[in-house]
Amino acid sequence: IFDGIEKGPPIEVFALNKLFLEDTDSRKVNLGVGAYRTEEGKPWVLPVVKKAEKAVVDDDSLNHEYLPVLGLDTYASAATALLLGEDSIQIKNKNAFGIQTLSGTGALRLGAEFLARVMGRRVFYYSEPTWENHQKVFLSAGFTDGHAYRYWDPTTRGIDFDGLIADLKKAPEGAVIILHACAHNPTGCDPTKEQWVKIADIIEEKKLFPFFDSAYQGFASGDPVHDAFAVRYFVERGFEIFCSQSFAKNFGLYNERIGNLTVVQKNPATSAAIQSRMTLLVRFMYSNPPAFGGRIVGKVLNSPELRQEWMDSIKIMSSRIIKMRKLLREELENLKTPGTWEHITQQIGMFSYTGLTEAQVKILIEKYHIYLLASGRINMCGLNEKNYKYVAQSIYDAIQA
Ligand code: PMP
Repeated sequence: IFDGIEKGPPIEVFALNKLFLEDTDSRKVNLGVGAYRTEEGKPWVLPVVKKAEKAVVDDDSLNHEYLPVLGLDTYASAATALLLGEDSIQIKNKNAFGIQTLSGTGALRLGAEFLARVMGRRVFYYSEPTWENHQKVFLSAGFTDGHAYRYWDPTTRGIDFDGLIADLKKAPEGAVIILHACAHNPTGCDPTKEQWVKIADIIEEKKLFPFFDSAYQGFASGDPVHDAFAVRYFVERGFEIFCSQSFAKNFGLYNERIGNLTVVQKNPATSAAIQSRMTLLVRFMYSNPPAFGGRIVGKVLNSPELRQEWMDSIKIMSSRIIKMRKLLREELENLKTPGTWEHITQQIGMFSYTGLTEAQVKILIEKYHIYLLASGRINMCGLNEKNYKYVAQSIYDAIQA
């Protein structure tokens, strides 16, 4: 009965990773996959995560009973407080709450399911470009009408802010606007504070619904408060929002699938109804979430000492990325590589949108064994002090070719 089923299209980032793993060239560099790497090119288990894992394993009061459908409350409320601030008035007024989800993707999917199936929303807007999964997650959840809003300007290698505003102005009332909370993936360019004010003005005026995606809080700048600016600004201004959170990057818990959907709404009386509808959505999809990641993140965020250790680790990760940006830019400039390279240090977060063309990317992969997405996006964590000169020289050569 399965005869005739055809393969779907490959997922670029995973296909690229497979090519990298199969490549036997000793010079190979992986700038594709979105995960942190140490100076030695290795994944990093944060020391505080190891400590929390041990404590969880040794805690005889814990068992493997099902979690509640909406997850561990001690974890979800700590995640919501990390996002909105411990003293957020919306948390105090019981207008904000969190739901434990299957990482950031699961939070996006649950939020989108709710908006499409419970509220009948069909129209969503995403930045052009955006994380490649946004459209697919929203369409799979029941949205039918996805539109891009302009974001990247290849000439300035920055945000096309006039284009962004013009496109949001065209959105119909009730449209859901996906906004990257910080460290925009793939461009690494975030709006300034003044630009966020203008974006909020349009969203308010046109009665649009902001759905933030926060996949890099603390990982981007080393300061979780700084990286939460946009979300907190909207919430303090009185917006109702959804925000997906991921603890994949900032805790290095990629495969534990630990995320949170923060819901902020104006009427505390409707919290119970929203939670009940969310409960049904989750029950019909996967029934309830796994416990381990939530226990780890909850333990760390709820303990002042462990939380401080976590803050130290996110500083280590973000500083290494910032250092790699500096070294790569300096080397490209030393080589007098055609083009401008300030954007490498101006962009933030794990990714840099280099501005390299598809043809140049092909050369880098095929001739130099340097793996990056066709869009020219590179993961800065794939660089280290041993390989950045090789990468810069290869970029120089690919541009000359
Ligand atoms: N949103 C953005 C912008 C991302 O970059 C990512 C991770 N690549 C995610 C969401 C979701 O990641 P995860 O499901 O692993 O938490």
